[in-house]
Amino acid sequence: MPVPRMVTLPTVMHIGKPAIPVVKVGDHVDVGTLIAEQDGLISSPVYASVSGTVKKIADEIISSGARVPAITIESDDAMTVDAAIAPPVVNSKEEFIAAVKKSGIVGLGGAGFPTYVKFMTDKPVDTLVINGAECEPYITSDSLTMVEKAEDIRLAIETADKYMGFDKIIIGIEKNKPEAIAKMKELAAANSKIRVAVLPSIYPQGGEKVLVYHTTGKQIRLGQLPADVGCIVCNSSTMAAIGAYLKTGMPLVERTVTVDGGAVKEPQNVVVPVGTAVGAVFEFCGGFTADPEKVIYGGPMMGVSVPDLDVPVLKHTNALVAFNAKEVKAPKTTACIRCGACVNHCPFGINPPAIAKGLKSGDMEMVIKAGAETCMECGCCEYSCPANRPIVQNNKLAKMALRDYKEKEANA
Ligand code: SF4
Ligand code: SF4
Repeated sequence: MPVPRMVTLPTVMHIGKPAIPVVKVGDHVDVGTLIAEQDGLISSPVYASVSGTVKKIADEIISSGARVPAITIESDDAMTVDAAIAPPVVNSKEEFIAAVKKSGIVGLGGAGFPTYVKFMTDKPVDTLVINGAECEPYITSDSLTMVEKAEDIRLAIETADKYMGFDKIIIGIEKNKPEAIAKMKELAAANSKIRVAVLPSIYPQGGEKVLVYHTTGKQIRLGQLPADVGCIVCNSSTMAAIGAYLKTGMPLVERTVTVDGGAVKEPQNVVVPVGTAVGAVFEFCGGFTADPEKVIYGGPMMGVSVPDLDVPVLKHTNALVAFNAKEVKAPKTTACIRCGACVNHCPFGINPPAIAKGLKSGDMEMVIKAGAETCMECGCCEYSCPANRPIVQNNKLAKMALRDYKEKEANA
């Protein structure tokens, strides 16, 4: 899309601590200039996505509802690249991890976890699982990236393998993405370690635990990470971003975003500078057919509503979906009828009514026993509930209450 007039870059576009601004109002920046540096292990640096002048550094509300410092840059339209941008020198595992750290790349599938941390594991890992199972309705940015940026993915795989020494590299893709499967099979044909796992097109196939189980047969249990079962899981767009960084040295300043939904005039995938206002992206896609009833970051199952169209595209915004009134007609919530559909549809066999009961009565042991901590907030339970109960929101509240409960127990 054309260069936006302004970009607003929050210092948190990842899981972890906010980055610390290193520019001040009035500074000139170029594309790729560091504007906020990483703070601590679980954090990620932020880079300017346009060239221009820093206009404002102020607190903004981000998608989680938190208020964090954000840096607004007025574009000079030139998109001048920072003179210091150069491909990283990578000759060891340490240099590979340092490069991924410096790139500012986080999980681009929506999770936003700082990617370099995954490669820092001291556990014995033998398998790289690449998540191309883009399972939420509407979203196609990962599959398009696999088709268009296969060479970047190849470079990332080869470099990661050279320094991490994997035995197997499995690319999991749902069977309804034939072009992506064909492209990734070309990579597999040239490298005997790579295998493409063609998966059923079933939500939530792309959930980390679900994907690892369906590609390797290994179960990640409560409290475990993929590395505990010998795996590193990286999203396919994340791998493409790593490859692009290794090739050019340009950190993560743009990403592919699926723009879709019944209210969008011209749905499409768009390469967007990070920090561009959501409204500007919709405008580029022809605007709206009618006033949208609801706009979300991400897909309809796990996405988060945006408060207005001025909020920015974040590093991990894989989709922007604008629904018309017909698509979001809110059904009436009624009492739980104990039908068990939510339990039957949960990939982990969690018991949402028991979580609700435990939360309401303050019985945290019941909440734990019902499996609240395992909940990945996929929404399958809520989708299947005939009473339209707000199960995911309730589970989120239960997890928060559980964190407080455990903290108090530990202090006691
Ligand atoms: S959101 Fe519902 S279906 Fe998904 S893991 Fe949690 S309880 Fe299970
Ligand atoms: S699906 Fe809905 S109505 Fe049925 S048991 Fe679960 S919460 Fe209750």
